[in-house]
Amino acid sequence: MSINNKIISTIFDIQKENPELNRARYKALSKQIPLMYAIVMVNVLTMAYIHFQYAPYYLTIILPIILTPITILRSILLIKSNIDALSDDAIQARLRTINYLAVIIGSICVIWSISLFEYGNAYTQGYVAFFMCLTAIGVITCLMHLQQAAMIIAAIVVIPGSIFFSLSDQPTYNAIAVDILLVVGIVLFIMFRYSLDFTSLIENQQKMEKQRKLMEILNAKNEQLANLDSLTTLPNRRCFFSELNNILQENITTKDPFVVGMLDLDGFKQINDLFGHATGDQVLLETSIRLRKLLDDDILIARLGGDEFGIIIPHSGSDKDIITLGDTICEALKEPFKINGMKDGTIKISCTVGFASFPSAGDTAPVLFERADYALCYSKQNSKGSSVMFSHEHETLIREVSTIAHHLKEADLNEELTVVFQPIVNTKTGRTICLESLARWDNPDLGKVPPDVFIRSAEQSGMINQLTSILFEKTLHAVAHWPEHVKVSFNLSTFDLCSKTAMLNIIHIMENSDVPAKRIIFEITETSVMENFDRALEGINMLRDLGCNIALDDFGTGFSSLSYIQHLPIQRLKIDRSFITNIDTCRATRNIIRTIADLCYNLNLEGIVEGVETKEQLDILADLGLHIIQGYYFSKPLPENEVLPFLENEQEQSETSDDALPNSIQGSQKIDYVLNKAKH
Ligand code: C2E
Ligand code: CA
Ligand code: CA
Repeated sequence: MSINNKIISTIFDIQKENPELNRARYKALSKQIPLMYAIVMVNVLTMAYIHFQYAPYYLTIILPIILTPITILRSILLIKSNIDALSDDAIQARLRTINYLAVIIGSICVIWSISLFEYGNAYTQGYVAFFMCLTAIGVITCLMHLQQAAMIIAAIVVIPGSIFFSLSDQPTYNAIAVDILLVVGIVLFIMFRYSLDFTSLIENQQKMEKQRKLMEILNAKNEQLANLDSLTTLPNRRCFFSELNNILQENITTKDPFVVGMLDLDGFKQINDLFGHATGDQVLLETSIRLRKLLDDDILIARLGGDEFGIIIPHSGSDKDIITLGDTICEALKEPFKINGMKDGTIKISCTVGFASFPSAGDTAPVLFERADYALCYSKQNSKGSSVMFSHEHETLIREVSTIAHHLKEADLNEELTVVFQPIVNTKTGRTICLESLARWDNPDLGKVPPDVFIRSAEQSGMINQLTSILFEKTLHAVAHWPEHVKVSFNLSTFDLCSKTAMLNIIHIMENSDVPAKRIIFEITETSVMENFDRALEGINMLRDLGCNIALDDFGTGFSSLSYIQHLPIQRLKIDRSFITNIDTCRATRNIIRTIADLCYNLNLEGIVEGVETKEQLDILADLGLHIIQGYYFSKPLPENEVLPFLENEQEQSETSDDALPNSIQGSQKIDYVLNKAKH
């Protein structure tokens, strides 16, 4: 770039660095420039009028004729222009134009004024000086937001004007020249200061605007964080409930139906425990992706926490349609999950879904949610891996459980609770080695309530620890009278096992009884351990340390994980009754039991078979190498006062039969022989 070009660009070019500042300047100028034109035009017209009779027409008429429409037009354009719609480049160009116009108009005015000076008298000449001085100050003041233009006016009008007057023979004009220079200099100085203040004001405004935008972004992010689950990016629990409340508000008067769903992954906790949390996270993420793909956009799917998802289906549909949708979800999640970094690469999981529809299942958010959750629990217990819609049947069940809970609270439990004992027999010796203590509740209002029903109700109403204490005390009281080689098996609830206070209480009862710990076997279920493995293990270890034995109850109905069996200090495994019912007709069942028998053998566990009712079952079990048997075949649960006679009778029969028993008779045959003899 040549020096000339450099000078020209410094004078006229507008800095690009801060387009917002340029825009603010242009905005301010667009209001001031029309005023500036007004000053110029009034002064030009008065100058022309004063010189009209002295100067030639081309000087007094032509300039006002040319300038007036131009200034009016530009003023209108400036006032009307939509500055916010202009691009940064356009603003820059317009500011540059103001600089150019300053040169053109400034030059014309100064040449015009000086040309008029030679016409007229001392008054008119004085007015020229007055015109130049005041117009320049007015124009510079109006252009204060564009320093370059103000400086151009100073350079083009004021300096030549001052030189012109300083060269005059009249001292008055010389003084005016000094005055103009001084005043304009001061005005420029003030303008320069003001311009700095203006720049920093705009910069501060920009900073504040940036901060405001940042705050807006942060607020949006916060809002997102508050409503989205960070792992799956699905809406979270909070969002789910707010949406549930919204849809409820919308539909409460019209009663338009919608459905609330709860989805829970089956066996997710085990995946976390066995493969680690990173794998668990992958499963959750993949689950969320599958759910999103499967469900229409208008269906809300949220992660409520852990492996629990919430669903809101905003339209009606028959119960059948909803169940079909639920089952489709279950099927989609049964497809193996590909897991990065895992040896065989895939994991299989299933899910269970519970639905409750508005308004039939409830008309408030908590009730709908609770009922969908109930349907989920019901499905988990009765048809795991599928979906269930909350129905009137469930409502009756809920009422029953709460009635039972109510009666449990009111009952004299010490009086109404009893224990019965079911023998567990070693078929090789034909002798009872242990009796399982089973709870019974006979309530004056409800009559005999089945133990699984009142135990579940006690668990749900938080009374189970109290019941366990009473039952355990009664059990040990009875066992103290039995022969020393006969053990007792006592069922513990998960709520006992996971409560330190309950465990200490159980230990306290044990220590205050006449029954040594080694005669006590605690039965725990696999699901109870899995629900809270670490705490359950702590409880089990407390009992083991005292010398008690532990049996894993209902084996085969839960997750049946080898890993759990290996990690638990158990000595016995009770094969669930459900396997025995069709053992004589189903080959697959026999194979399962054979595998469990092998497992017991290999892990050095005592395998106990529950629910044996027939001789055929007993024989098949003997062939499979299973000799510890509990079931109606030997005895139904016995009241406390019938236990000793049963044991004595058994001993008697065993002794007499042993004498008479041919050596060829073995195992279950021996038992049959004894039982037959006893029956006759
Ligand atoms: P469980 O621990 O599996 O108990 C065995 C159940 O099978 C008992 O039912 C028993 O009477 C029944 N049973 C035994 N042999 C046969 C058979 O040959 N055929 C048939 N059909 N049934 C047989 P019960 O006494 O009704 O107890 C049901 C469940 O209630 C128990 O299952 C246990 O989970 C729970 N329970 C009972 N007593 C207690 C207790 O004191 N504490 C806790 N926490 N749970 C208990
Ligand atoms: Ca049991
Ligand atoms: Ca059992």
